[in-house]
Amino acid sequence: MLVVQKYGGTSVGDLDRIRRVARRCLAARAAGHDVVVVVSAMAGETNRLLALTRQIHPSPEEREQDVVVATGEQVSVGLLALAIQAAGGKAVSLLGHQVKIVTDSSFSRARIQSIDADRISAALGRGEIAVVAGFQGTDERGNVTTLGRGGSDTTAVALAAALRADSCEIYTDVDGVYTADPNVCPAARKLDRISYEEMLELASQGAKVLQIRSVEFAMKYRVPLWVKSSFGDDPGTLVCEEDSAMEDVLVSGIASDRNEAKIALRSVPDVPGVAAKIFTPLAEAGVVVDMIVQNVSQEGHTDLTFTVGRGDLGKAASVIRAAAGPLGVKGIETDDQVAKVSVVGVGMRNHSGVASKMFQVLAAEGINVLMISTSEIKISCVVHEKYTELAVRALHTAFGLDRASRGAAIAQAG
Ligand code: ADP
Ligand code: ASP
Ligand code: MG
Repeated sequence: MLVVQKYGGTSVGDLDRIRRVARRCLAARAAGHDVVVVVSAMAGETNRLLALTRQIHPSPEEREQDVVVATGEQVSVGLLALAIQAAGGKAVSLLGHQVKIVTDSSFSRARIQSIDADRISAALGRGEIAVVAGFQGTDERGNVTTLGRGGSDTTAVALAAALRADSCEIYTDVDGVYTADPNVCPAARKLDRISYEEMLELASQGAKVLQIRSVEFAMKYRVPLWVKSSFGDDPGTLVCEEDSAMEDVLVSGIASDRNEAKIALRSVPDVPGVAAKIFTPLAEAGVVVDMIVQNVSQEGHTDLTFTVGRGDLGKAASVIRAAAGPLGVKGIETDDQVAKVSVVGVGMRNHSGVASKMFQVLAAEGINVLMISTSEIKISCVVHEKYTELAVRALHTAFGLDRASRGAAIAQAG
């Protein structure tokens, strides 16, 4: 059997933890498996490196920033390979360019285009544990690239797909995927299984336990994906194909995302082409727009509100100010104190009333809904950031997800 294991930053946070990871890799090897292990930078290291680039330049070029932040993973692969060797095993470290993880040239958020896994296969053939740096790749001109925050998850799943691994195990600081972030909602319950589609939606709505791209890869290449704790022996959560039992549950999970900011344009002329003139320059500036809401027009004018990632607010606001003048927009308001709270579940496809229940629950807590967006298996509301935890916990309880109330969740789906 070929297994790909991935250990996140907390799991390799100090030398003792790296030794513990080494023992886990060796145990898998001793069980007769070929082992590929992907590691992240040691806890806090990526943030530290990013801060260094910002101290030396107010708006660092992303190519150089990637050169700096990719080093975090270089340190951890070297240390883990040494820890395995010190424990009597055979291991070799491999960086992104040595594995030949080729990406596009979108520095800081590159997408994997191809993987040439020959060097890993050769190492496995020699009986070595292949220790691969997560998060990093190289574009076709040889520039170092990184895959975006949480990108080591994607390295692991992409390798598992390329190597046709029998399983891909993501080891982290929680023992699986929960019905909500257990650090936000103490009543959250660990799920034994979750469908790719629900996991993708939870990740997209802010559950950072898996990077979005990693779930996309797993879904596309049907990689059985486990999320487990690197500190215990719980079997964890399997992310897998949907089955009919999953549809019986109305809401599978709640996610929240504080990385949101809202921009409102007041009194926008309601004529064809205006939306394109606003959103095209934003796209050209690389700003990803999330929700968009346009009000009913009155006397030929309307209000247009949308959200962007909080880190992009400054850039988005200046692009909008430049575009808004010629269009005759009367006012621009920005708000970086908003958060998005979402309920997710494949059961929603066949049942109505989830949205109204969500609004009732938020209203009962005195939480004002600023924006709403829905998809087939998700409803998201933008609220003031200070209500994030309260909203998650109240929705978690109301949809019957709290620990020991599993029966209620299934009953509601009827
Ligand atoms: P790693 O460094 O191992 O990649 P991350 O910090 O990226 O770990 O992801 C693990 C964290 O994801 C958990 O500590 C938890 O706070 C958060 N998280 C958010 N939503 C969920 C969820 N639904 N289930 C489990 N963890 C979640
Ligand atoms: N070290 C990178 C980060 O902190 C990648 C990862 O941990 O997955 O985002
Ligand atoms: Mg992570």
